[in-house]
Amino acid sequence: VLFVMTDADLDIRRPTLLLDEKRARRNIVSMARKADLARVRFRPHFKTHQSLDVGGWFRECGVDAITVSSVTMASAFANDGWTDITIAFPVNIKEIEVIDALAGRVDLGLLVDSESTVARLAASLQNPVRVWLKVDVGYGRAGVRWDRPEEIRSLSRMVARAKQLAFTGLLTHSGHSYHAQTREEILRIHTESIGRMAAAKAALDGALFEPCLVSIGDTPSCSVAEDFCGVDEIRPGNFVFYDLMQLASSACEAEHLAVVVACPVVGKYPDRRQIVIYGGAVHLAKDTACDARGRSIFGCLAERKRNAWSPRPDDAPVVALSQEHGVVELASDLLAAVHIGDIVHVLPAHSCLTCGLHTEYRLIDGGMVRRICC
Ligand code: PLP
Repeated sequence: VLFVMTDADLDIRRPTLLLDEKRARRNIVSMARKADLARVRFRPHFKTHQSLDVGGWFRECGVDAITVSSVTMASAFANDGWTDITIAFPVNIKEIEVIDALAGRVDLGLLVDSESTVARLAASLQNPVRVWLKVDVGYGRAGVRWDRPEEIRSLSRMVARAKQLAFTGLLTHSGHSYHAQTREEILRIHTESIGRMAAAKAALDGALFEPCLVSIGDTPSCSVAEDFCGVDEIRPGNFVFYDLMQLASSACEAEHLAVVVACPVVGKYPDRRQIVIYGGAVHLAKDTACDARGRSIFGCLAERKRNAWSPRPDDAPVVALSQEHGVVELASDLLAAVHIGDIVHVLPAHSCLTCGLHTEYRLIDGGMVRRICC
């Protein structure tokens, strides 16, 4: 039988987020060790797990500095005793009062990429903050372009001269590494990114910009690369759980996968070799990964074997999602093994978004871990 239920599934009635604590802890230890060996500061992004308990697992590994993606998330972790927090999202000036209050009780890092934001921070903040200039090395989302030295210099100068703002360095997120299909492509993007950060940093010599740290952070690059030359800090987040997208690009192995969504089977359609599960876009999220044929899939069934999930993207992909329905295409042998009323494990395409749809994790070895809701 392929999709046997584990003990953790026995009383599952609805789509339920399952977490393998041992795998997640192993992922944390291994990334912390890599950062240590590369002599870079490890400032993991907590937006993936958003859990005080999982945060505690990082603490046990010696982590004392974190990244978050919202002011609300920063406040929640500050309330849990974290004192060194970077909000790796462009400053939202509508939240300036909360940001200022937070800066009064923790060592707070902010990201800027515009003069108007720097001017507002300089005029409004009573408490000191660390300020990173966000640099765009090719993702095309936010940041000053790496090849505009004049802009980098003038904005950095503006930061360095403002009383409450401590210029800290240059920060980037190479999110375009998520489009890579192979380890080689990921490495190419990583090497290009750190080269572009070095070029951006070259625009900033002089005492005004000392120290000028370089912070990077995307799970594909941090997982695959060994060389972090010129980098002072890494901020990966997704690596704590990984997912099908990371597996498809070879950024991780099946043994690193730490979360699945357990979903009841509610329909079976042998003529079209599909089943319908209670697990739709509101439980899995609509991000996709690429299967071996280049098809976009929303996830796939994963078999629990020898204490690890063995994903089946080729013969059990999730091919369609509506609000509560998920449609899974099954190879004939798998179709015969799955019945209405079974619980199947779905490996999500992108765990950060999937976890964001749930309020808690059920640990496969027993127990629950809550998420903060930001
Ligand atoms: N830093 C920033 C600014 C991000 O936006 C993200 C993720 O979106 C990360 C770090 C972490 O990257 P990943 O999710 O690939 O681990």
